[in-house]
Amino acid sequence: MSNNHLIVIIGAGMAGLIAASKLQAAGQDVLVLEKSRALGGRLATRRLQSAGFTTVFDHGAQYFTAKDARFQQLVEDWIAQGVARVWFDKSTENGHSYPTFIGAEGMTRIAKHLAQGITVRKAAKVTRLAMAEPGWQVFLESGGCLQASAIIMTAPTPQAVDILTASALDLPTEQWDALKAVTYDPCVALLMCLDGPVDLPDKAGYWQPEKGSLIGWVAENHQKGISPNGFGLTIQMSPRSSTEWFDQSDEACYECMRQAVQPYLGEAQILDWQVKRWRYALVKNAGTQYYQWFQQTPPLILAGDAFAGPRVEGAVLSGLVAAEQLLKHLNNQPAVGSGTL
Ligand SMILES: Cc1cc2nc3c(=O)[nH]c(=O)nc-3n(C[C@H](O)[C@H](O)[C@H](O)COP(=O)(O)OP(=O)(O)OC[C@H]3O[C@@H](n4cnc5c(N)ncnc54)[C@H](O)[C@@H]3O)c2cc1C
Repeated sequence: MSNNHLIVIIGAGMAGLIAASKLQAAGQDVLVLEKSRALGGRLATRRLQSAGFTTVFDHGAQYFTAKDARFQQLVEDWIAQGVARVWFDKSTENGHSYPTFIGAEGMTRIAKHLAQGITVRKAAKVTRLAMAEPGWQVFLESGGCLQASAIIMTAPTPQAVDILTASALDLPTEQWDALKAVTYDPCVALLMCLDGPVDLPDKAGYWQPEKGSLIGWVAENHQKGISPNGFGLTIQMSPRSSTEWFDQSDEACYECMRQAVQPYLGEAQILDWQVKRWRYALVKNAGTQYYQWFQQTPPLILAGDAFAGPRVEGAVLSGLVAAEQLLKHLNNQPAVGSGTL
């Protein structure tokens, strides 16, 4: 890998990994820097051991849908390769239904698939950037520094703003304002290990309470098909309740969520539980562009679900289109802009 022409992608979520795979397939040298120790970002699959059972939980995104033809094609490829599959058909108010998709053994399976053959450095938090013509210097919390010819940054926008602010870049006010205007709902989630099956309202293994409820979503991961050797509920508070409860103790969050699902537990006993918090879960006001060129030379592009829609599909399309436009730029072709949706 030649360090001089390295394209650095910040973030190993869906936007970052799809951008990395597109660029690498086009012959570019790519390095993904990820602050956590896991792949997938908000696609998060966790294993909990309890009383001899291993229970697998999806505790971030629960499923995704595919409306755009490019994304549909990717999903078809993932299904053909055994990476993804249909979970259930979701009905709309006007009587139509469309499939929901999941990772074959949990959502991070898709991230792991995309990361195959790509160099991802985990536990590598980027703290700031500095221009070092003809490229960038990328500074890490660990104290290291890398050279990059171009950067695609896919961190949730408040975290991207932190990096850009620390970088003291001289950028147009309207770009800063647009970035700072993006806000996210948090999510408080409970992972609950059980010793047997439960009876959720939908046979596919989920329950979506009415709007205005404390709980936004419940799924049983054995019925979902990702936890063959253990039963367990993923319980997510609604955005409004998550905001109210975000700073409450784990015990308080557990108790109110347990009470909400108790009628469905039947004979099942709770073996163990963990509370997880997402400060930036769902974008409230996503942009109308696939990505944002923050700086043309050397290139600095921002991508992720904040730009193309607050879901897995939006993140993938944003990363994909950002990578395509960067390739055009590197090949001295026009069509560089902000990629309006
Ligand atoms: C609880 C929850 C439920 C959801 N439910 C659904 C759903 O059912 N369906 C759906 O389609 N979508 C859902 N979503 C939204 C979906 O998960 C996201 O839209 C999508 O995964 C975002 O992908 P991304 O690549 O843009 O960002 P992310 O997945 O957030 O990836 C960004 C990555 O950047 C990393 N990063 C941040 N700062 C730095 C730094 N300084 N240095 C290095 N790395 C950094 C982060 O650790 C992260 O891995 C849900 C999200 C949550 C949290």
